[in-house]
Amino acid sequence: MARKMLVDGELNQTNKEGAEYDFDLFVIGAGSGGVRAARFSANYGAKVGICELPFHPISSEVIGGVGGTCVIRGCVPKKILVYGATFGGEIEDARNYGWEVNEKLDFNWKKLLQKKTDEINRLNGIYKRLLSNASVKLLEGEGKIIGPNKVEVTQPDGTKLSYSAKHILIATGSRAHRPPIPGQELAITSDEALSLDDLPKHAVVFGGGYIAVEFASIWRGLGATVDLFYRKELPLRGFDDEMRAVVARNLEGRGIKLHPQTNLTELVKTDNGIKVITDHGGELIADVVLFATGRLPNTKRLNLEAVGVEIDKTGAVKVDEYSRTNIPSIWAVGDVTNRMNLTPVALMEGTCFAKTVFGGESSKPDYRNIPCAVFSIPPLSIVGLSEEEAIEQVNGDVLVFTSTFNPMKNTVSGRQEKTIMKLVVDAETDKVLGASMCGPDAPEIMQGIAVALKCGATKAQFDSTVGIHPSAAEEFVTMRSVSRRVTARGKAKTNL
Ligand code: FAD
Repeated sequence: MARKMLVDGELNQTNKEGAEYDFDLFVIGAGSGGVRAARFSANYGAKVGICELPFHPISSEVIGGVGGTCVIRGCVPKKILVYGATFGGEIEDARNYGWEVNEKLDFNWKKLLQKKTDEINRLNGIYKRLLSNASVKLLEGEGKIIGPNKVEVTQPDGTKLSYSAKHILIATGSRAHRPPIPGQELAITSDEALSLDDLPKHAVVFGGGYIAVEFASIWRGLGATVDLFYRKELPLRGFDDEMRAVVARNLEGRGIKLHPQTNLTELVKTDNGIKVITDHGGELIADVVLFATGRLPNTKRLNLEAVGVEIDKTGAVKVDEYSRTNIPSIWAVGDVTNRMNLTPVALMEGTCFAKTVFGGESSKPDYRNIPCAVFSIPPLSIVGLSEEEAIEQVNGDVLVFTSTFNPMKNTVSGRQEKTIMKLVVDAETDKVLGASMCGPDAPEIMQGIAVALKCGATKAQFDSTVGIHPSAAEEFVTMRSVSRRVTARGKAKTNL
């Protein structure tokens, strides 16, 4: 095994206990959490190394890229496609605003795809620069842990390098999981869905989570026929039930065919496309089948068992509230720990890690009131507790305020799609426990509401806030009358 030659003075740190390490910190995986932890640790004065797999938009066990899932095959490319898909409806809506739009609209998928690829290439470069500007040493290759203070990096040419580090941070993220049904190899995952050569004519999406809902919206918005299959009664398990129903209604309104409580049981290749067979005996032919049925932590090839790092039954690295594993020198942040799999959460965990280990300030990630969005068309965004969670967690009564209205833009465009907002309030303390919105700009609005919830705002404080007129957002401060009061431990009930 070759040992990396080091530039004079570059490595060989001596720690307090007198042991010599090549690095203070070695990070495996340069995605959202890894890059954040590496940069911030370096800014605190640590000597940091990081390794990442070679770049490609479609991931595998040996392919990745600096920037990670969010930048290369997640949030960023997806949002670009959502923007692209939103224009279709906007152009339709423009007609009643006086725009003369030809009956036939042309859309060039290859152009959008190229623009998306250009952007992720640009961001990949920016992430590399962020690391080098912070003096973090970036190595291309697959990282593996070979001891409590030792990592091995296999470079693309097969050369193995080994490094010692006082701390090791696992930040290897997660990868899409395929349900093991016959013909599963005919389906794609979100990785390939973001890089398809041709826009599907008829897409089948299997899954009820946010990634499934978003891709269904993207393809439908770009003109494809879309069938969405999911196991539950409504998509988006874990979100507020009332809002889940609203999203389902909107998806249908936009022309997506919903198949609730339906599993796919087999895919068969035919001359006309992929035959999709369901557990209800249904069949249809599609040219693309997307599996968006969950993701699994990337731990299989890290050699964790040999080193004694504990993982749970999904393969997620078990950590304490400071992101430390059962081996004191080994830590983990981001999707690989399967806590809350979102980019800003991986960033928060990376920041807290750096502060705790190198900043001299014990710092725990705070998972309360984390806002998030589903970029369906129109989007859903939430923060805090759903009605069901509030009923479960609050001792007393819960007040629910809802507002359903026709956004002003639709009054002229004629689009039949209501915006829905909801506030969930603790009747005893008047504290706003949760907020949700489904409608245009919901994520942009919810970020501000999240600040209010983080500050512990009461409903009275919402009500005393002056609205911005005319806007949809002002509804959040003008929901005067309670829609329903749910008595302690009662049952959530929609009246929308
Ligand atoms: P990652 O960003 O996945 O980084 C892990 C890195 O480790 C990867 O680059 C990988 O190549 C590398 N790696 C793995 N194994 C090794 C190894 N052995 N050696 C070296 N390197 C290795 N989140 C949001 O907040 N908003 C969204 O809108 C959103 N949309 C999404 C859409 C899609 C389609 C997907 C798939 C995810 C989306 N997410 C979104 C989730 C978000 O992308 C993740 O939560 C986030 O990227 C997690 O960051 P991470 O650092 O834990 O992992």
